[in-house]
Amino acid sequence: MRALLFSGGLDSSALAWWLRPQVCVTIDYGQRAAKGEIAASSALCSQIGLEHRTIQADLSFLGSGSMAAKAVVDGASAEEFWPYRNQMLVTLAAMKLMPEGVSEIILGSVSTDRHADGKAPFLKSLDRTLSLQEGHVRVTAPARRMSTRTLLRTSGFPYELIGLTFSCHVHEYACGQCNGCLKHRECVEMTYPRPKRGAA
Ligand SMILES: [Zn+2]
Repeated sequence: MRALLFSGGLDSSALAWWLRPQVCVTIDYGQRAAKGEIAASSALCSQIGLEHRTIQADLSFLGSGSMAAKAVVDGASAEEFWPYRNQMLVTLAAMKLMPEGVSEIILGSVSTDRHADGKAPFLKSLDRTLSLQEGHVRVTAPARRMSTRTLLRTSGFPYELIGLTFSCHVHEYACGQCNGCLKHRECVEMTYPRPKRGAA
């Protein structure tokens, strides 16, 4: 069984469309955008025809993102930086799904990810760490050499589903102002040609 970590953002949505994993998992760890991510992921899976699950693991006692504001490392954006996030997400998904026979956990990392836990050395290390344990679960990031735009084009993700995707980092609705929302808009505008107004 292949499982995709699914936030409802452009990268994981394109991977869901492209790879059609057996299950898509959204983890509510107390992030401020959790409700928006769950709503988007659920709606997208319903449209694509994939199983969607939510794992509840409330870590908001750690600061729900405010922790990040005190720990800006290497220029990482405060609003989106959670130290050790990907290893936490992969571990939670593996803990939940290993008893069901999950063989692979897919991450939506892309080439433009700035944080160390989205880059090849870490991803290879995490893959090895999990594969050494019971269950021998593998960790993959099939789009780690692609930009978001390349991934959208490669996957063939349809424009008709773009409206269901969600990339906000700070609210349960798209704020339109955070780095996630700005990147979302830029990628969509540059990937999909705009219909001409008034065209018959
Ligand atoms: Zn936003």
